[in-house]
Amino acid sequence: MIQSNECSNCGGKLELSKDRRKLICPFCMSEFVPMETEKPAFDTENEVDPAFYKCGWNLDKLREKKNGKDFLKGFLHCVNDLCSPQKALEYAFSIIDKETFNEVATENKNRDLFQSAKDRVSSVLEPGETVFLYKNSGVFSKGKEGCVITDKRTITFDKKNVYSLPHKEVESLSLDSSLDSPSVSMNKSYKYRFGMLGYDSRATGAFAGVICLYAFEQNPELKRIELV
Ligand SMILES: [Zn+2]
Repeated sequence: MIQSNECSNCGGKLELSKDRRKLICPFCMSEFVPMETEKPAFDTENEVDPAFYKCGWNLDKLREKKNGKDFLKGFLHCVNDLCSPQKALEYAFSIIDKETFNEVATENKNRDLFQSAKDRVSSVLEPGETVFLYKNSGVFSKGKEGCVITDKRTITFDKKNVYSLPHKEVESLSLDSSLDSPSVSMNKSYKYRFGMLGYDSRATGAFAGVICLYAFEQNPELKRIELV
């Protein structure tokens, strides 16, 4: 057990390791396990943290196809390495910004489409809520159907309805990797579905990670997210 955040070897200030399982001294590189009773470490490059996720995804099978492999790469990087929704968002944008896919809009990309989507979902936004991403879900719909992701929720809409799922209410992520680009439904409902964020499936994985990280940040009661 560690009694303080000082290195017992050299007195340096300890830092949390990337996988949040150990404390590391940046000066002498000593490693400490904060609690002996903690769950065993997991393979952060290939697995999800069993402390945070109940994993029903067949990860080996997903990795057999490039899109599934890319999706996982984006998702795992966000939830295992970056561990903060803000950092995960930066990573997700770095992928999206390289794309020329005109169905995806952000503050900096396809701005007319972005603005029309923001207007479409304005009724469910809270004051100060930040809209990050719009994904048009119909090739000819030109902003009439789609999905919007904000710092508070995921919103999907069609001609008649607007559906809002706050991140703090996210309990599960269902992954459909049967199409060319994987899509994700939240809380086992097709109403809350997003996917095909450009041709790089890492972006879809990254945004799935962003949503999970927000879910944990905004819902302290949340124990584990189910991956189905
Ligand atoms: Zn030290």
